[in-house]
Amino acid sequence: MSEMEGVIKYHLNHQHKPLPANINLNRLNAWRSVLYRLQLIGQNPEKYDGLGYGNISQRLVVDSSAFVISGTQTGHLAELSPENYALIDSASVEHNQINSSGLTAPSSEALTHAGVYQQEASAQAVIHVHSPEIWRNTLALNLPHTKAEIAYGTIEMAQAVKALLNSDQVSQLPLFTMLGHEDGVVAWGATLEQAAAVLIQQLANAIALE
Ligand SMILES: [Zn+2]
Repeated sequence: MSEMEGVIKYHLNHQHKPLPANINLNRLNAWRSVLYRLQLIGQNPEKYDGLGYGNISQRLVVDSSAFVISGTQTGHLAELSPENYALIDSASVEHNQINSSGLTAPSSEALTHAGVYQQEASAQAVIHVHSPEIWRNTLALNLPHTKAEIAYGTIEMAQAVKALLNSDQVSQLPLFTMLGHEDGVVAWGATLEQAAAVLIQQLANAIALE
């Protein structure tokens, strides 16, 4: 593939220090483990240039723009620990900028997560996975999607996601695929459970079609 999964394209101002001790990552980490077992998050030498894929995040406090996200290149790890997560203190989709801290830099797709939190006030969790089944059935399942000519990690993608989130398509289903990002799917919800359930439901729908 021409794009490089895992390459951070935004301007990152990262402070290398532990996350605040009062942040509880237990449920976020549990869902990340479930998604890893389903191979929706992971790393495979045969795919995506062998780089890790998929990431998960959770808003820290309702109405706050801060969120915790799995770190860059952690896809190979079956279990994550607090040092594998980063805290996004603030992010500007418009300026392609992220301010973060943690013992790992944030996922390369953190700006997409930030865009969802900014547009969707009710979103408390965002999950990005790679699912060949959901992705290739985007049209058959009538899923919201960004176009094939829009590559991941670009300003164009940020604008396309914003336009999509402002449309009534995603009010029916809090999920979209990125046809310009092989196997890329993003879902969100008022809880981690809701975001994961939307993904797993669409995975079952896609498998049923095939
Ligand atoms: Zn991806």
